[in-house]
Amino acid sequence: MTQLVVLNLEGVSKNFHPNQVPVVNGVNLTLKQGDILGLLGPSGCGKTTLLRLIAGFEQPAGGKIELLSQEVATGRFSLPPEKRDVGFVFQDYALFPHLTVAENITFGLKHRRGSRKGTIEKRLLEAIALVSLDGLQNRYPHQLSGGQQQRVALARALAPEPTLILLDEPLSNLDIQVRVRLRSEIRRILKASGISAIFVTHDQEEALSICDWVGVMHHGTIEQIGTPELIYRNPQTRFVAEFVTQANFIPARRNGSQWDTEIGSFAVHEREALEQGDLMIREEDLHIKPDENGIAEIGDRQFLGREHRYTLYTSSGLELKARSDTLHPLPIGAKVNLQTSPKSWQIFASSGNDRVGA
Ligand code: ADP
Ligand code: MG
Repeated sequence: MTQLVVLNLEGVSKNFHPNQVPVVNGVNLTLKQGDILGLLGPSGCGKTTLLRLIAGFEQPAGGKIELLSQEVATGRFSLPPEKRDVGFVFQDYALFPHLTVAENITFGLKHRRGSRKGTIEKRLLEAIALVSLDGLQNRYPHQLSGGQQQRVALARALAPEPTLILLDEPLSNLDIQVRVRLRSEIRRILKASGISAIFVTHDQEEALSICDWVGVMHHGTIEQIGTPELIYRNPQTRFVAEFVTQANFIPARRNGSQWDTEIGSFAVHEREALEQGDLMIREEDLHIKPDENGIAEIGDRQFLGREHRYTLYTSSGLELKARSDTLHPLPIGAKVNLQTSPKSWQIFASSGNDRVGA
C-alpha cells in the first residue's frame, strides 16, 4: 500500500535579517501518513524555526511547503496557521490557566466553524481516553503534574484531528522518570490516533525511541535522514556520528588492508580511498581488559547500571571513552588494553566532514 504524502518541503530557507546566514537552509523532506519524523539537533540549529515555518507562524524566504499536495507557503505567499490544519505542542505546555482540562482540550474545537456540541463532547472523551486523563476533566492546569499538563496539551492538539501534529521538545521540562515514561506513551498515542507527527528534540535517545524516521539537523540543514537504526549504525557525516552516538575518533593511517592506529590495527572493510583519516568507534563498542602493560590508563569511571563508562588516556594523551560490565570494575589509574566489537568502526576524513567510502 502506498502511503499518502502529508507534508513535503523543497528547498525551504529562512533568514530573519537580510544579512543573516539562513537559520533554515534549503531543507527538503517528505512525511507520509501516520509516520512520526524526529528532528534531532543541538540548540540553535533551526528546529523550532522549521516547525514554525511548517505551522505558518513564519514565512519562508525561499522554497516551498506542501500539505496534502497543496502549496501552503513559498517565498511569495504563506497560508495563515489557522487554515493549515496543523496542531502544535510546545515545550512549556501553553495551557490556558483559567480553563479546565476539558475546556482547554475543546478550545480549538469550539473555534472551528461547523463544530456541533455532540461532536465536541465525543472528541473530548476520545482525546481524554487516548492520553489517559480520565477523571481529570474538571481540574485546572495548576492542579496537575507537569506530565499530566503535557498530556492535556497533546489531547488539545489531537482533538481536532489535524493533518499533522508538530511537537517542539514536548518532554524537555519534565523530570527524567516522567520523561522516559512519556516517550513510549507519546509514541503509542500518536500511533493510535494515526495522525502524522514531527517530533523535535535535542535528545538522541528520545528521537531514536519515539520516531519512525529521524532527521539530524546541523546549522539549518538536515545532514541525514533515515530510520533510527540506520542513523545509529551508519552515520554518513562526522557530525551525525558525534551527535547521535557517543563516538571516539582515533587518528588512523592506511597500511595495506588495515588501518593502523595508536590502539591497534583495524581491517579496512569498505572501498575507502583515503590514506589517512579518523577511525570512529562508539564508546559502547570499545571495551577494556586489564593488562599491566596496557596501552591506556583509566582516568575516570562512571557507573551506568549494567555498565561502567571509562574515560581512558593513551600515552600520547588521546582521550577515549569505553564501556565494560560492572561485575569487575577496574580502579582509576589501572592500565588496560582495548577490545572492539567486530566491524564496529567506520573511517571519516580527518579534516572534512564527510564519511568516506560506501
Ligand atoms: P532550535 O529550536 O534548534 O534551538 P531555533 O530555530 O530556535 O533553533 O533558532 C535557530 C537560530 O535562529 C538561532 O540562532 C536563533 O537565534 C535564530 N532565531 C530564531 N528566531 C529568530 C528571530 N525571530 N529573529 C532572529 N533570529 C532568530
Ligand atoms: Mg527550539
